Order: sequence, then structure tokens, then C-alpha cells
Amino acid sequence: MAEAGEYFVGVDLGGTKIYTGVFDRALKMVGTARISTKAQRGHEAVIERIARCVEDAVDECDLSLKQVKGVGIGAPGAVDPVSGTVLFAPNLEWKDVPLKKALEKKLGVPVRVENDCNAATLGIFEVELKSKPRNLAGIYIGTGIGGGLVINGEPYGGSNRTAGEVGHMVLEINGPKCGCGNNGCFEALASRTAIFRKIHAAVKAGQKTILTDMLGTDLADLRSGDLRKAVRRGDKLVDRIIEEAAEYTGIAVANLMNILNPEVVVLGGGLIEALEDEMLAIIIETAKDYAMPGTSKGVDIIATSLADNAGIVGGAVVARRAS
Ligand SMILES: [Zn+2]
Repeated sequence: MAEAGEYFVGVDLGGTKIYTGVFDRALKMVGTARISTKAQRGHEAVIERIARCVEDAVDECDLSLKQVKGVGIGAPGAVDPVSGTVLFAPNLEWKDVPLKKALEKKLGVPVRVENDCNAATLGIFEVELKSKPRNLAGIYIGTGIGGGLVINGEPYGGSNRTAGEVGHMVLEINGPKCGCGNNGCFEALASRTAIFRKIHAAVKAGQKTILTDMLGTDLADLRSGDLRKAVRRGDKLVDRIIEEAAEYTGIAVANLMNILNPEVVVLGGGLIEALEDEMLAIIIETAKDYAMPGTSKGVDIIATSLADNAGIVGGAVVARRAS
């Protein structure tokens, strides 16, 4: 029988799904659960669903909450990790939601809240990279682009705990409008949203792609996996747009290398997961091209092997660090 409080639960809170994982002290994953977020029902309903998803994962492992030492959540937005409040999460339409307090009341277990990209970076740092690099930069490309930093072996939040917003480094001053209000942010050029927007515009302008054969002319329900299929079938339009996104990502990596000179730059998120084979080599080549001489020497630019589990592993690491 397991002793009391031997396990940690990591929570990946996304705009569409909640994913939870139970981990032992060595952070070996022992079970998971998944549920839709249903953000439109409001934050109280979502917190109820997070609690349910934590309980489901724990039950799946034939454990009880008494055996859980802590819960760590990666939330998609600005977070105050000290109070555990989600300050602002546009995907969830949350503002000043006291997530830690509300969830601790429901579960009776200590809860820690972190920004999802910071949590994922810590998860990759401690579990995948065994805490070996002293300095690490993480870039996550999905609907948006987020980042996380580890400096001198510790998570780096900066003076206002907002550091690591790699998605909003400006790469084209006359580029497309970004959600943050600026023009030409990395996120506005290379996120899945930006890629989909370019494909829609090209199709509207009459350019040919097999995506319209696959999904119809309105490209309803377009996913990252469809982009991979199109590239592998030799689709020139999608291939060009993906190559362009990979080049922008390479330039962003070069900027990070020039400023931070980390041992490792790790890439993750849904787009990288689906298109690693198509994008990573271009990202590495472009990054080395743009970095200052000597800067990229010995720097590893890798895609995380944790894939979809980076968020829950990160949550568990956040919980374990707090215990
Ligand atoms: Zn921006």
C-alpha cells in the first residue's frame, strides 16, 4: 500500500480540454484522465470540471486524494503563482479567478498554479533533460505562441513575472496584426492561427491546394495533422507556408540564442508535434544562419519528446517543487 501523500497530479488546463496525470515521487506517470473544458459555462463550472478530472485520474490509478501530496496546474494566461490567481486568460475568458483557493476547497489538497508554458518548460527541464542544462528556453507553437525560461537552473519570471513572452517578439514591423495590438509578432507570423489564415487567404485568391479536396472549399475543421498530410502528398502551397513559419521560428530561436545563449532551445506545442519532421531541420538551419558568430556553437535545438504530456508533466513538477 502506498503511504499518504506520495503522489502528484499535473493538470493541463486548455481552452478546449482539461488533461490530468497522476505521477509518483520519481515523476513516473501512473495514470491520466481527460475532459472537455466547456469554458462558455463560466469559471465556476470549469473549476468543478478540473476537480472532477483530477478525481478521475486518481481513481483510474486506484488511489485516493489522501495519497496526493499536491496538484500543479498549468493555466493558459497570466498567473500570480504566489496567490494562485489566474489574472487573465483570454482563451477561457477569465479575469482574476482565484483558482488555487477554489480548487483547494474542493479537493482538500495543496494546489499550485503556473502559466502553462512556464510549467511545460519546467517539466521538460526536470523530467526530459534531467535538470542538466543550466539555461533553457522553451517555445510552444499552437493556436498562439508561448515560451518559458530556465536561467541558472531556476525558472525565470522577471521583475513582473511576465518573462518568456517569446510569441510577441516583433519579427516584421510591417507584418500582420497580432492579438496583442502590435504588428508582426512571431505569433502573428508562425502560429497555427497565422498559418491557417495564410492558407484561407491563398485559397480565396484562387491558389490550388489538396486541402480543399480533403476538407471542402471552406476548409472547415482544418487541423495541424491535415497540414502534415498535405505536405507529405507534395502540396506546394502548404509546403511553402510551413517552410515560411519554420524560417520565422528559426529567426526567433536565433534572437533567443543571441540574448540568452542557453545550452538548449526546446520546441513543443501542437504544431511542432504534428510537423516536427517538416519544420525542425529548417528551424535549426535558419537559427544558425541568423545567430551571431560563435553563439549557436554547442546549443541544442530540439523538439520535446514529451509531446502532449509536457503540460501534465510540468504541472506535476510545479507541485513537487512546492512540496
Ligand atoms: Zn503580439
